[in-house]
Amino acid sequence: MALKLHRYEYDPEVKKARREFPWQAYMPPRRVAPHVWLVSGHYDYGDYLIDTGDGLILIDTPSPQYDYLLIDSIWRAGFDPRDIKLLLLSHWHGDHDGCAAIIKEMSGCKLYMSKQDHECKLNPPPIYYEMKMSAPYPYEPDEFYSDDKSITLGNITIKTVLTPGHTPGVTSFFFDDTDDDTGVTYRIGMHGGIGIDAMRPGGRMAKDGINAEIRDKFIDQCWEMAKWDVDITLGSHLNQCGMGNVFKDCKNENDYAPFVDNRAWPMMLMERRCRVMAFRAGADDYPIIALPDEN
Ligand SMILES: [Zn+2]
Repeated sequence: MALKLHRYEYDPEVKKARREFPWQAYMPPRRVAPHVWLVSGHYDYGDYLIDTGDGLILIDTPSPQYDYLLIDSIWRAGFDPRDIKLLLLSHWHGDHDGCAAIIKEMSGCKLYMSKQDHECKLNPPPIYYEMKMSAPYPYEPDEFYSDDKSITLGNITIKTVLTPGHTPGVTSFFFDDTDDDTGVTYRIGMHGGIGIDAMRPGGRMAKDGINAEIRDKFIDQCWEMAKWDVDITLGSHLNQCGMGNVFKDCKNENDYAPFVDNRAWPMMLMERRCRVMAFRAGADDYPIIALPDEN
């Protein structure tokens, strides 16, 4: 099988359009696992809708100006956004919690986030004031994650893992999903935040509320988690783990087969680990590891 797992860079024109004209960055919903649909409505954001058989789970929401693309995508994928029962946030940044209040108001869902990131919302680190990172509409979590207590709805049981680094309270998600037609079960993994800017040397760390201890934990945890078996890797942004490269291999919007590749998970984590280790050693950056292109 061809390797398509390398990071891909966004087209600068599309990147510009993302800010100025959200609709130019529109992407229709895609099935990425047996019962999981990418519904961000946007080429950059990894927001996932899980059909549990007894209501819907939504993981993350886009920035607020894309609210209508998210809602439209959920309908287009064949679901009613009012059936969302649980909203799980990976971290407190606005491009993940931007529509949390809207979804909660519309569906009456229960909202989960980490205690650590809720703390960031209440006492924002300096980066917030520079980048206005949190959601414009206020929302309150109904429950904090507790990693020794899985979250179950219908046929889906999600294990959460606190994975700080990008923020102090990044949370990652793991669950099994079985294809109704083939009976094959896949392990799904989504790392909640692998953006490493917050661990860059030169002052950014403190602004993000990240310290050396958190950075060390990120390095150690990437090493440990890379050993985990994950069949389908979901990016919290689509440039992570090369999801954007895979779409063109899908036969149609329901074909998730090209996403089944257990190399994506360890490769994504090891690439990030190398770069953050270079930061720790004082380097400004470390070249993105070149992975083989197609073939
Ligand atoms: Zn973020």
